[in-house]
Amino acid sequence: MNIVILLGAPGSGKGTVAGRLASENANLKHVSSGDLLRGAVAKGTPAGVEAKGYMESGNLVPDALIAQMIKDVVAETTGDVTMLLDGFPRNLAQAKILEEMGAPIRSAVLIDVPDEIIQDRISGRRTCPKCKAGYHVRNLPPKVEGICDVCGEKLTIRKDDNPETVKDRLVVYHRETEPLIEFYKAKNLLKVVDGTAALDLVAKAFSGNM
Ligand code: ADP
Ligand code: ZN
Repeated sequence: MNIVILLGAPGSGKGTVAGRLASENANLKHVSSGDLLRGAVAKGTPAGVEAKGYMESGNLVPDALIAQMIKDVVAETTGDVTMLLDGFPRNLAQAKILEEMGAPIRSAVLIDVPDEIIQDRISGRRTCPKCKAGYHVRNLPPKVEGICDVCGEKLTIRKDDNPETVKDRLVVYHRETEPLIEFYKAKNLLKVVDGTAALDLVAKAFSGNM
């Protein structure tokens, strides 16, 4: 098992890219910290109960809480698998926790999208609550409006995808997560992909770079 970290702002499309690549390649496993957390919130586990308020306000949940979830997934992932780690680490403390887990990190790929584009991207974002597929009303519409292509479920808008919370999430991204770019650059692990291109091109550039 080895790890490819996806770096990028909220709305950079990193989750969609990872999801698409994993659906096309059995050796790739998409692990989204946000999906793990939303799953825990939906189930009402103790971790989910603790995480809920942080997530709704656009803040990061405590490091130990998300780190334990990632540790569990890393422990159960064996064999010839590349884990596409989406949303973790989100700050330097988490990056250090990940190193301590000991799983080899192959690269950290930044999907680069300027802030100006983010609000628009997120306002059109729709997600399938069942299979987690991601859509965009203009850039990546489902075949039938409001319905998931993959599983037929009704698409939803994430609670934290409103303009105010997105603003806060961007502030958190620049303050907490952006320093990881330099962190992985210094380790010679950083790759950068232009995230403003069409999804197919971004996915292609990503898989060629990871
Ligand atoms: P985005 O689309 O903004 O990248 P995610 O789905 O990755 O969002 O995360 C949604 C929310 O879950 C975050 O705003 C944060 O509250 C929480 N979260 C996800 N990953 C982490 C993490 N590694 N550390 C702390 N909080 C996290
Ligand atoms: Zn679905």
